[in-house]
Amino acid sequence: MLKSKVALSACLLGCTCRYDGNNNLNENLLILLDAYEIVPFCPEDHCFGTPRPTMDLVKNEDNVEAISNETQKNISRPIREYAQNFFRVNPNITLFIGKDRSPSCAVKSGKIYDVEKNLLDKKGTGLMAQVALDLGIESWDAETYEASHTS
Ligand code: SF4
Repeated sequence: MLKSKVALSACLLGCTCRYDGNNNLNENLLILLDAYEIVPFCPEDHCFGTPRPTMDLVKNEDNVEAISNETQKNISRPIREYAQNFFRVNPNITLFIGKDRSPSCAVKSGKIYDVEKNLLDKKGTGLMAQVALDLGIESWDAETYEASHTS
């Protein structure tokens, strides 16, 4: 029987694609996802390479955008394009699990700042996770998923 597909932040699988070249391997989470076919993604490595400068989510008048901490430029567009393309070529994803607190992958744990870098919210959504939610895909932060599915 075909397994259901879960989209998973690649750093949680052990991929060394974090901004600092490290990973966020979570073996317990991988055990919990044993029944799924894992489809990894990493928008930031794809768009900007590894290692790379960090970014923050900043709320302007209309939207939440990813702003580079190096150049202060809005670098949201390639991340959103990567996310849209990922779900276009992987139409059968039924579950999305993103790395907590990531400006790309967090579902409900991203920090949102105002344009003067005052913290507005610690439960924001990263740009790729937002695309998953907009598509109606069940989406979780990794730590929340793990806590909810560990007895
Ligand atoms: S963008 Fe997402 S998948 Fe890539 S390193 Fe950051 S948290 Fe992990």
